[in-house]
Amino acid sequence: MRSRLYTYIIIAVSAVLVACSGGSGKDSVRGDGSSSEQDERRTGMQCSVCDGEGVVIETCAECGGTGGHECDECNGRGGTDCNYCRGEGSSMCMLCSGTGRKLCYNCNGSGHSTCSACMGSGRDYAGNICYACAGGGQSNCGYCYGSGYIKCRDCGGSARQQCTFCQGKGKDECAKCEGEGQLNCVPCNGSGKVTLKCHECGGKGVVTDD
Ligand SMILES: [Zn+2]
Ligand SMILES: [Zn+2]
Ligand SMILES: [Zn+2]
Ligand SMILES: [Zn+2]
Ligand SMILES: [Zn+2]
Ligand SMILES: [Zn+2]
Ligand SMILES: [Zn+2]
Repeated sequence: MRSRLYTYIIIAVSAVLVACSGGSGKDSVRGDGSSSEQDERRTGMQCSVCDGEGVVIETCAECGGTGGHECDECNGRGGTDCNYCRGEGSSMCMLCSGTGRKLCYNCNGSGHSTCSACMGSGRDYAGNICYACAGGGQSNCGYCYGSGYIKCRDCGGSARQQCTFCQGKGKDECAKCEGEGQLNCVPCNGSGKVTLKCHECGGKGVVTDD
């Protein structure tokens, strides 16, 4: 019984404490917290410039409201042309010397291979002329269809490969703007707007008559 009463008192006291700290917290959010300024707020007129907010939102003077400006490192280009591919983003495929094709490894470029039906004998098991190669013992190479060449597997026949130095972008990305060519305006953090203390009321939200 005694301990229950004690618990009740604790709850009641902490409720009062919460209420008090809540009140003072609101004041400190409003601004300055000193008691003389709080008095002025009560007696003065609400500032019409900031509607009593104490702050005004203005266009950022640094960027003129655009939120960014051209990167001074790369003059807005986002980077410099890749030295390796001269800005093309791709370079000649080294593995096929830019031809896009390779000698067929199955037939060594001859275009034909030993007939698989007669194993090159030109005759079938019964001794007749092999129907597959018409007796020649050779058939078109199944890999290159008789051309002697196959597509370069590294470039897919395009004869070019993506530049590995710039990942095909053709540019060495500007480190400062990460290739964007634009930098976020620092004062407004890219928003183009800045929140300034109201110059009319000095941030107090009220104008006093003096
Ligand atoms: Zn104001
Ligand atoms: Zn700005
Ligand atoms: Zn490159
Ligand atoms: Zn190739
Ligand atoms: Zn072949
Ligand atoms: Zn055959
Ligand atoms: Zn840049």
